Amino acid sequence: MPATTLDSLLQQVEDCAKNVDKDDHNLRRVLLEDIVGQGFTAFGLSDSVAPIAAQAQVIQGLAEKCMSSAFVTWSHRMTTEYVDRFGSEALRAAHLDELRSGTRVGSTALATALADKSGKELLPITFTEDAGTFEINGVIPWASNLYEDTLAVFAARNETTEERVVFAALLGQPGVSVKPAGELLALNATSSGTVKFEGLRLAANNVLTRDVDFFLGQMRPRFLVLQSAFCLGLSKASLKAVNASSGTLPFADDISRFEEELARLQGELNVLANDLNAYPAPANGLAPLAFLKLRLAAAELAQAITRIELATIGGRGYFSSSDTSRRIRESLFLSVQAPTEGSLRWEISQLAS
Ligand SMILES: Cc1cc2nc3c(=O)[nH]c(=O)nc-3n(C[C@H](O)[C@H](O)[C@H](O)COP(=O)(O)OP(=O)(O)OC[C@H]3O[C@@H](n4cnc5c(N)ncnc54)[C@H](O)[C@@H]3O)c2cc1C
Repeated sequence: MPATTLDSLLQQVEDCAKNVDKDDHNLRRVLLEDIVGQGFTAFGLSDSVAPIAAQAQVIQGLAEKCMSSAFVTWSHRMTTEYVDRFGSEALRAAHLDELRSGTRVGSTALATALADKSGKELLPITFTEDAGTFEINGVIPWASNLYEDTLAVFAARNETTEERVVFAALLGQPGVSVKPAGELLALNATSSGTVKFEGLRLAANNVLTRDVDFFLGQMRPRFLVLQSAFCLGLSKASLKAVNASSGTLPFADDISRFEEELARLQGELNVLANDLNAYPAPANGLAPLAFLKLRLAAAELAQAITRIELATIGGRGYFSSSDTSRRIRESLFLSVQAPTEGSLRWEISQLAS
């Protein structure tokens, strides 16, 4: 049970949100000490008493205050779960307690694996294997929580056999370089950037799985539920700001539509999160269609509400330092966070046909 209550954590995060947005105030300490160190990423893991629905609630609460904080928490939490569920004994012994206690940061860098799986583009990271040692080359164009001591999870492809393998690797070792992203529209505090592998050598213990389909089948619904939670957190905060403004009358129809949609998606999130209480999920992972639809609809809702938030707040919402401006910029991130809006639309059209 966390020593800090969720309410006091959320108050702290709210108090810092402006600085996090404005000052490129890096989130590493907050993530490790205030969030992970206080037990707020411990829900829904293999030995957790509380289910993943409780994790979704924490991430949603964080996103109501600050999307950057919710996002770094999501990335760390997912990495912890990959190691928890798929790590070799040696990898778990070396890093699971560190990830769970907040002494090491985790980064999920699977966007390229998802694009590969959806057929959009080939996995740009390759591996060769020789007597149980792997050599990795290639570039991960985007990942977050990138620090010298981060444990990052990514997939790589063997160009000869076309096999895909999921690896975990520390970033501060020979063969890895990180290029920080330039100035972003939002999320500057998330330590995002590009990771390049040039002759990175990894041992067999760094392999999480050679069964990528099973891995994605099990992890993707969990990943999407927690992402949908941050989309709904942002929607909720924005709708609250709309309702607190004095200019709601011309937007009454939009507001009632948003309220209905938010309630519908919240119900859907609760149902889908509860479906994930059983692990491993039946049939090699639940069909992701409902999870993909939820994630897309939740992102679209956040973007629709933040736009109306600006219209109801008026000109003062257009100051770059306003909460309204921050939420608009945060909401746009939801279109480029994997699975991206393009990828979601494509996959949904394929699965629904
Ligand atoms: C600040 C920031 C932080 C990030 N952090 C992380 C992170 O921590 N971890 C991580 O894994 N990723 C992260 N990402 C990367 C992100 O997840 C996406 O991979 C990346 O933004 C997608 O870039 P893209 O230009 O290829 O867009 P995409 O949407 O993938 O591609 C653009 C084009 O391709 C089309 N398209 C997309 N999918 C398909 C498809 N299946 N078939 C056909 N056409 C398609 C689209 O319609 C669009 O025209 C981050 C990105 C940003 C901006």
